[in-house]
Amino acid sequence: MSSGTRLLLIGPPGAGKGTQAVELSSAFGVPAISTGDIFRHNVKNETELGLKAKAFMDAGDNVPDSLTNDLITDRLENPDCAGGFLLDGYPRTPDQVRHLDDFLANHNAALDVVVQLVADPDVVVERLRLRAIDQGRSDDDESVVRHRLDVYQEQTAPLIDIFTARGAVVAIDGIGEITEVTGRIMAALAERGITAA
Ligand code: ADP
Repeated sequence: MSSGTRLLLIGPPGAGKGTQAVELSSAFGVPAISTGDIFRHNVKNETELGLKAKAFMDAGDNVPDSLTNDLITDRLENPDCAGGFLLDGYPRTPDQVRHLDDFLANHNAALDVVVQLVADPDVVVERLRLRAIDQGRSDDDESVVRHRLDVYQEQTAPLIDIFTARGAVVAIDGIGEITEVTGRIMAALAERGITAA
C-alpha cells in the first residue's frame, strides 16, 4: 500500500469537510471516507454498529474509539484504498491518531498531508442551522451543535498540534464559495508538490 495520495481533512463541524472531501476525492481519484457517513448509514440500516453508535451521535458525542478504530481498519483494508484515500472526520481523538499511525506503519504507508479547514464558530453554527432545516440531521439541533463544537475543541483540535509538529498541516480558510475553497486547497497542496494525477 505505498502508492497514491493519502489526505486527511480536519476542522470543526460545519467547516465544509464533507463538501470539500467530494471535490478532492474526484480531483485525486481516491475514495473519500467519512466515518460520520459510515455511522449514519449503519444507523439508518439498524445494523449492530448503528445501534451502538446512535445514542452517542444523537448526543453529539464521539462514538467510542474502539468501535471507530475497528470500522476504519475494515474500510482502509478495502482494495479501493490501495491507491490512496481521503479521510474526513477521522481521526478525532489521540487514540485514533495512534491507531491510524499503527495501521499506516503496518502497511508501509504514510499520510501526505493534513488539510485543516478553518472556520469561525459563529459561521459554522449558522451553516449547521441551515443544514438542519435542509437535511434534518438529528445532531444539527442547536444545543447538540454547540456540544459538538465543544467536543471538537476538547478532543479533536489538539490533534492539529500533533500533526503540525510533524510538519504535515496546511491551514485553509474555509469561508467562501465552495469552488474558491477547493482552489485554495489545491493551490496549497501543489505548493507541497501534491498534485492530482
Ligand atoms: P461533523 O464533522 O459535522 O461533526 P460527522 O459526520 O463527521 O459530522 O460526524 C457526525 C457524528 O458521527 C459525530 O458527532 C460522532 O458522533 C460520530 N463520528 C464521526 N466520526 C467519528 C470518529 N472519528 N470518532 C468518533 N465518532 C465519530
